[in-house]
Amino acid sequence: MSDHGHATPTTATGDQELPATEDEWRARLSPERFAVLRQKGTEPAGSGDLLHVAGSGVFTCGGCGAELFSTSDKFESGSGWPSFTRALAEGIIEEHDDRSYGMRRTEITCARCGGHLGHVFPDGPRPTGLRYCVNSLSLEFQPAEG
Ligand code: FE
Repeated sequence: MSDHGHATPTTATGDQELPATEDEWRARLSPERFAVLRQKGTEPAGSGDLLHVAGSGVFTCGGCGAELFSTSDKFESGSGWPSFTRALAEGIIEEHDDRSYGMRRTEITCARCGGHLGHVFPDGPRPTGLRYCVNSLSLEFQPAEG
């Protein structure tokens, strides 16, 4: 089955065929990425490599390479996780009701590969009032050229 008919923006790696099983995901990803992307883990606050990045660029999915966020929408939330006011485009992130750990939160996942990204909260800054709180381990940073 192919999803190439979607308008989802992807990088070169985003055109790779997706693993069909969790065993294949485990073989493709580092143990740290697997725990977050495929098992809904959370990296320790303040531990992520992408909490602060220099320059502008795009954050792609650490699972499939889909382009998810831009430095233009990144802000310092003080949470210890990379935070964004919005996704790079419509339809590239899915939301799910998450009632784990005695909380009611909205989980966000990559629409292309289903990888767990983090959560979205209604306490962000303008212009959206949203805070996409994302694990560094769920992302890769692609600096803009030039
Ligand atoms: Fe993905």
